[in-house]
Amino acid sequence: MTEREIIDTDVVIVGAGPAGLAAAIRLKQKSPGTSVTIVEKAAEIGGHILSGAVMDPSGLTELFPDWRERGAPVGPAVSKDTFHVLTRRHDFSLPNFILPPLMKTHDGVITSLGDLVRWLGDEAQALGIDIFPMTAAVDVLVNADGAVEGIVTGDLGLDHAGNPKPGHAAGIGLRAKYTLIGEGARGSLAKQIMQRFNLGATASPQKFGLGIKEIWEVPESLHEPGRVDHYLGFPLDDATQGGGFLYHANDRRIYLGLVVHLDYRNPTLSPFDEFQRFKQHPSIAKLLEGSTRLSYGARSLTSGGWQSIPDLVFPGGALIGCAAGFMNAPRLKAIHSAIRSGIAAADSIADALANGRANDRLDSYSPAIRDGAIGRELRRVRNVKPLWSRFGTILGVLLGGIDMWANSLFHFSPFGTLRHRKADADALWPTSATGALSYPRPDGKTTFDRASSVFLANIAHDEDQPVHLKLADPAVPVRETLPAYGAEPAPLYCPAGVYEIAEEGGAPVFRVHPANCVHCKTCDIKDPARNITWVPPEGGSGPNYVGM
Ligand SMILES: Cc1cc2nc3c(=O)[nH]c(=O)nc-3n(C[C@H](O)[C@H](O)[C@H](O)COP(=O)(O)OP(=O)(O)OC[C@H]3O[C@@H](n4cnc5c(N)ncnc54)[C@H](O)[C@@H]3O)c2cc1C
Ligand code: SF4
Repeated sequence: MTEREIIDTDVVIVGAGPAGLAAAIRLKQKSPGTSVTIVEKAAEIGGHILSGAVMDPSGLTELFPDWRERGAPVGPAVSKDTFHVLTRRHDFSLPNFILPPLMKTHDGVITSLGDLVRWLGDEAQALGIDIFPMTAAVDVLVNADGAVEGIVTGDLGLDHAGNPKPGHAAGIGLRAKYTLIGEGARGSLAKQIMQRFNLGATASPQKFGLGIKEIWEVPESLHEPGRVDHYLGFPLDDATQGGGFLYHANDRRIYLGLVVHLDYRNPTLSPFDEFQRFKQHPSIAKLLEGSTRLSYGARSLTSGGWQSIPDLVFPGGALIGCAAGFMNAPRLKAIHSAIRSGIAAADSIADALANGRANDRLDSYSPAIRDGAIGRELRRVRNVKPLWSRFGTILGVLLGGIDMWANSLFHFSPFGTLRHRKADADALWPTSATGALSYPRPDGKTTFDRASSVFLANIAHDEDQPVHLKLADPAVPVRETLPAYGAEPAPLYCPAGVYEIAEEGGAPVFRVHPANCVHCKTCDIKDPARNITWVPPEGGSGPNYVGM
């Protein structure tokens, strides 16, 4: 067995997202003597963060009531919020009064989450929190009682075959009294821990969406800072869930994106190309002509909500933020809940440490989430996603709206609690049943290919390192998935062109180009054979998003 250097700390946190940073800051606010260490796989804090975002500031206010005076970098307050239903050519704005109050956000601010976490990182460091960027957590340390007692960081400087290169540094162990997992949606350690402690046993399968986002600079005349638009319908068909967003931030920037839920059926559907189609709708295209695309990125999000929340604690730690899945899918909001969950976990740890405890179950954390603000918010919208999945967009969203109104007015849901029936990996049908989709070539002005898009994600990835997309059996895509579905979906669902079906000697071969990966985790979620496992590459690899 490898002898690792072990460093002791009181609390180790995986991920410098809003959940992890909030947990660290709260711990230091409550008990300044506690040593707190955060590891972050991106080269810089915020480099792997991608969000919409319209933020409900309630979570941030709980952490720093004076965040405005402290200079938190948030954009304009929401001044106009419109919900649209798109057909191929038309755009119908829904009157605001028919939208259930549960979909509205009071005091919403348009925010670059990347900028916000950079600022939170500065605040954390000022409080004495150690943050290690370029450091991926790849495993957990487990004590003799089977409790988690920290994490193992990834090796640096291994070649493609796993042999040490010059400058090699073995990963270290960070041993802690409590470990918090704040990796965001589909965390790789969270997945391991959930399996090890069977945390999902009584929950519905988690559901996911893939969000693709671009930042554009638009002419002054078309820019309306504070304007927020959400879209349903085109380009997605009735059986495919998701929707578009368009937020006008400061400095002539717009944040434009499409979320496609990953329980879509058609193996030839390409979320990336659906996003290109979305940009061609007249309502969107008129903004983009004469504008400049600045950045591109993609990230999965959770959409299972209340029914999919797993057991949140395990011996020695807890899941926080979107690693646990606190997204309110109808509102497309979770930053505030990520922050709140970090605060709740920190409160639980501070009490435990004050009582001399270590490496046990943080039993007060789960009730704080389930019976607190996060649980109250998610419970009331719990049937929207299952109704949408069962009945499609037109009927499902209508029924979901009725359910939300009933919850708002009478605190009652006519549908009880509907479960999510299957994992997204099990949702595909063969192309013989769905038909095959084809997409037009990009025009290079408002629509683009994957290669030129990924270029704008500023990826850094040393190619001579072990492949971080682990295929359990490299033959499965061609031998099984291709014949079973009539298409191999990976090249289509991957928004970064990592997977390819090429031809060699007249036969199809499955190729992987890991250096393009933007860490969205879709392949780990959607592969119908569950043959692909995403593990963190060498710390610092991946996108370097600015202002996402
Ligand atoms: C397209 C899209 C639009 C969204 N729009 C909105 C919106 O408008 N409003 C809203 O409130 N919410 C929105 N969300 C949701 C919001 O972004 C998330 O709820 C929030 O980012 C979750 O915070 P987190 O801290 O749990 O995880 P993340 O923000 O994902 O942060 C996790 C961090 O952990 C790091 N990490 C992961 N694994 C490891 C590892 N093994 N080792 C080291 N580091 C690791 C990552 O690099 C990352 O920095 C949106 C999400 C998406 C994808
Ligand atoms: S390889 Fe997987 S995680 Fe990476 S960009 Fe493609 S789908 Fe996302």
